[in-house]
Amino acid sequence: MFEADLGTSRTIELRYPTIQVEDITLTPLTGTFTAIRNSKGIYITGPLHSKMESECARCLDSVTVPITIQLDDLFYYPPYTAPPGEFVVGEDGFLDLAPLVRELSLLEIPMQPFCRPDCKGLCPECGQNWNEGSCDCEKDDIDPRLAALRSLLD
Ligand SMILES: [Zn+2]
Ligand SMILES: [Zn+2]
Repeated sequence: MFEADLGTSRTIELRYPTIQVEDITLTPLTGTFTAIRNSKGIYITGPLHSKMESECARCLDSVTVPITIQLDDLFYYPPYTAPPGEFVVGEDGFLDLAPLVRELSLLEIPMQPFCRPDCKGLCPECGQNWNEGSCDCEKDDIDPRLAALRSLLD
């Protein structure tokens, strides 16, 4: 690829059943992207699809979050040095996509994933998962505004 003429492009297909990148696991990681040789290195562009395991923000159950990563990055190639935070082509001509994929994946995880839109969450008193049933403390758990209203009615 590096001896290739400028503008040469190649389509690369990724098809990993599962891939571990440091602290995150992507299952699977698939997609087709284009690598284009330009004057400074290799520019890669295209979408990758994956799923990540996360935790429901309400009930802490594990949730599988589908994500799409949009590759749009230049891997610098000597004599060009990459600016801080950018990527370089390895000495062996290998593009190590892992750090980039990790970075982009982390951006894609929703801050508050839910196992389902109407997740009822956990009881703050006993930790009962309200999706699986109510608990005994639930009836004492009166909204303070309702409690004020009730005292007015009394
Ligand atoms: Zn949940
Ligand atoms: Zn409870």
